[in-house]
Amino acid sequence: MKMAAPGLRLGMRRLLEVSAALGRVCRAYSTPQAFAEVLRLPRRQLTKLVYPLQELEQHLAPDARSDLCLRVFDPSLEDLARAESFFTASPRNRIEYLSSAVRLDHAPDLPRPEVCFIGRSNVGKSSLIKALFSLAPEVEVRVSQKPGHTKKMNFFKVGKYFTLVDMPGYGYRAPEDFVDMVETYLKERRNLKRTFLLVDSVVGITKTDNIAIEMCEEFALPYVMVLTKTDKSSKGHLLKQVLQIQKFVNMQTQGCFPQLFPVSAVTHSGIHLLKCFIANITGNLDSRLPV
Ligand code: GDP
Repeated sequence: MKMAAPGLRLGMRRLLEVSAALGRVCRAYSTPQAFAEVLRLPRRQLTKLVYPLQELEQHLAPDARSDLCLRVFDPSLEDLARAESFFTASPRNRIEYLSSAVRLDHAPDLPRPEVCFIGRSNVGKSSLIKALFSLAPEVEVRVSQKPGHTKKMNFFKVGKYFTLVDMPGYGYRAPEDFVDMVETYLKERRNLKRTFLLVDSVVGITKTDNIAIEMCEEFALPYVMVLTKTDKSSKGHLLKQVLQIQKFVNMQTQGCFPQLFPVSAVTHSGIHLLKCFIANITGNLDSRLPV
């Protein structure tokens, strides 16, 4: 009996540890982005979370509605659910950080289609990538490199489907070699299918964003504008910014996808739609999409 007690205690502790770990996993998977739960939401909440532009449209005057590009990419809920599976980690669908590179010739040589995320520092890029990988809680997304630290491109493998690249954040103090690195990657990466250019929806398009836009235009890259932090503004301010950015895209860009992607890493609004778009762009889904 005396001998059994410590063993029993140890066993109990292990059991508690295992159930705590299981609890953590369950919590991670029961966040609003678990799609079965999303489908159970009331209609209005579901639209707001899954099709944020359509929700915004309802607050627009009828004559302004035609300005907003809403349904170029308009996947069904079934397609959105299918796209979730690509972003869900499992032993058969490994989602993991692969490597970092400071030069294109150090980048992993991968045959899979690739998408990259670029934006100025603090735009919410790390938070967005974390939100995209929320069903792969083991993936470690490095938060913004501090000024002075080497800025790197980080490569993530998403199963056998595609590679996602987190490009270093740019800003006024971006050193020349950093600009060279981003430019060379954008110009020469052969398997790059789409560039996701992040713009802060609270601030709108800044001078720094314009430099990135000009770069995408100059290299004739197909790119997409993602509007971050949409939970931060009032509906009125967000609508104003969305319409202004839409006008800019319609009038002043060639390579930009006409439909904007507003997202929030906090509420996860727009995240499912973005995942589905990526699944389409990389050739893994075939929703209604003129690519
Ligand atoms: P990065 O420098 O582009 O990687 O930006 P981060 O992801 O580190 O975000 C910069 C700051 O904005 C942090 O304080 C984040 O918590 C905040 N942030 C990022 N995304 C969101 C969002 O969707 N909503 C809100 N409210 N804050 C955000």
